[in-house]
Amino acid sequence: MNKLEHYVLGQWQSGTGDGKPLLSAVNGAAIASITSEGLNFGDVLGYARDVGGKALRKYTFHERALMLKAVAQHLNEKKADLYTLSTETGATRKDSWIDIDGGIATMFVYSSKGRREMPNSTVYLDGAPEMLSRNGTFVGQHVCTPLLGAAVHINAYNFPCWGMLEKLAPTILAGVPAIVKPASSTAYLTEAVVKEIIAAGILPDGALQLICGGVGDMFNHLGAQDVIAFTGSKNTAEKLQQHPQVIAESVRFTAETDSLNASILGPDAKPGTPEFDLFIKEVVTEMVSKAGQKCTAIRRIIAPGALATDLVRALSDELGKIRVGNPGSKEVDMGALASQGQRKEVRERVQELGLEAEVVYGNRDDFELTDADMAKGAFFMPTLLHCQKPLNATRVHSVEAFGPVSTVLPYDTLDEAIELARLGNGSLAGSIVTNDNDVARELVLGCAAWHGRMLILNRHCAGESTGHGSPLPHMVHGGPGRAGGGEELGGIRGVLHYMQRTALQGSPQTLSAIGHRWIRGADVKEEKRHPFRKTFEELQIGDTVHTDAREVTLDDVNHFAEFTGDHFYAHMDEKSAAKNPFFDGRVAHGYLIVSFAAGLFVDPDFGPVLANSGLDSLRFAQPVNIGDSLKVRLTCKQKTLRIDSGYGEVRWDTEVTNQDDEIVAAYDVLTMVATQEEWDKVKS
Ligand code: NAP
Repeated sequence: MNKLEHYVLGQWQSGTGDGKPLLSAVNGAAIASITSEGLNFGDVLGYARDVGGKALRKYTFHERALMLKAVAQHLNEKKADLYTLSTETGATRKDSWIDIDGGIATMFVYSSKGRREMPNSTVYLDGAPEMLSRNGTFVGQHVCTPLLGAAVHINAYNFPCWGMLEKLAPTILAGVPAIVKPASSTAYLTEAVVKEIIAAGILPDGALQLICGGVGDMFNHLGAQDVIAFTGSKNTAEKLQQHPQVIAESVRFTAETDSLNASILGPDAKPGTPEFDLFIKEVVTEMVSKAGQKCTAIRRIIAPGALATDLVRALSDELGKIRVGNPGSKEVDMGALASQGQRKEVRERVQELGLEAEVVYGNRDDFELTDADMAKGAFFMPTLLHCQKPLNATRVHSVEAFGPVSTVLPYDTLDEAIELARLGNGSLAGSIVTNDNDVARELVLGCAAWHGRMLILNRHCAGESTGHGSPLPHMVHGGPGRAGGGEELGGIRGVLHYMQRTALQGSPQTLSAIGHRWIRGADVKEEKRHPFRKTFEELQIGDTVHTDAREVTLDDVNHFAEFTGDHFYAHMDEKSAAKNPFFDGRVAHGYLIVSFAAGLFVDPDFGPVLANSGLDSLRFAQPVNIGDSLKVRLTCKQKTLRIDSGYGEVRWDTEVTNQDDEIVAAYDVLTMVATQEEWDKVKS
């Protein structure tokens, strides 16, 4: 039998012994065997730290982001075979799309966010400088640098592709090597994905290693710079979090565990409203997608008591239309659970729930199967329960049947709905279906502290909604309490989980040199040659222009008002302006100040500055009165090369001051500046 291989120490290797057989969820046929016996886990960690980490840290965030894009593009080309293999896990094509295309999309999003929201550098600046002293010679800046250890990713069986890629993307972007340990039962799909990634030759050696099977004594070798990112059951998380080495070394541990996610139907969403129909659709989708084996699936259906009968009828009708069977068949809506063991587990959990709730649909073995054999595959009928007194119950809020199983919990008041949602003791995802924004607000404020993510669904967003159960790379994934207390994804937030945040304190000059971003108070350099005449490479952080002064006259203000159409009283009506507590009389328009500033600092001739792409953080600090005199300091603050584009973004720190040297406006000007090569082409 094909034995799954490990990718460790720069090569593919097999474990010793025969290993445990892995069976198809659909027909029980043996697919592969799995064993990690014989691996030296200490060496694997050492290889990640000494080879992978060192190699990754040499690249900038943008270079690493481009690696993610290349990996995603490669997987996109190769995904047909992955889809075929994915069927064996019990996944329909739609399920596989979430797992495979969802994983690839996550890589693309991180690639794009990494290049848009992180500097083309090796240090990430977290927030603006903090002024810590009166004279500005002592300042603070938070910076994030990659951890020097390895990220150990332990994944659950339900998303063998997405589960790996959603952790891998932020880890690689951070500059940290990953050791991936998929759940055994579906590890053959993860192995196939890793084989493609390694074959593509995009990631540096040691950046990604794969272990199929147990992690042996790896935890004994963990150190303070390593990170565990765990996805799986709460029980396993608790066990691993208590490992003595994890405690002794304060190893960072992120846990994404199970949760009894709720969806709440608002009292306004009666039968006949679009929201009632949306709710039915959402609940059924969540129950049958991945055969309910989603950590974010709706397990608890919280609905107004008066609507419970209608709701149970409507849900049962829709569940009756779900065709269960061979996930490779086009007619099938729901495939199999991951294994026979998992089916046995789900049956037992339903029995437990049955002590507090009545089964109102499903939970039978004599249902119709399409193109499949009940004895060989791990099929389970979608099952709906109804608990009449949920506030007095405990199991319906704590027992996770990890399959197509959900329970209706009626409520009378919104406070009761909130209380029921909270009884889940912490969830990854919650949803509220209502077209009443007051109800939405009350429920969100009552439930948000117990949830990592909440969807508020109604007729206005349903057409484009991504649904209750889909974690998105842009939004945080994770939840408090039962859900593990961890957080992943959420855009760049997810990258920072693999980095150390350090508070730097020192002089503006030193902190500017460390962070490659000019800080007010650091040295400036003014040359005869205007910085707008310099190419991206020639420009240096700190290059500065101090402009001449320009007086603002009454004619200027009148002209600006006429020209733009902005006749706001503070600029045009002396008496009214004087009544305003901020002004003594007519003042210049803020946009006039910004426009005059541009007129003062711009060098007009054809040059390497290609375009002005925006302003950031514009603040008007003081009014500009008629007769005031304005001048500008413009300093090159930060340079971000856009790799292979022929230009880079240059951020200019801009300060407009008056005749008394008081700041009247401060902001960042953003420009696109040509590289030398591009400029030579453009000007010729
Ligand atoms: P699990 O049994 O807890 O296993 C999770 C992972 O932990 C697997 O890779 C497993 O490997 C590994 N593991 C188990 N014991 C270990 C040990 N002593 N040392 C190191 N690793 C160990 O969970 P599962 O059955 O795979 O997944 C289902 C559960 O995960 C459900 O409860 C579900 O709610 C939860 N889940 C949560 C999320 C989330 O994002 N929050 C996502 C998906 C699933 P082996 O398979 O080799 O034992």
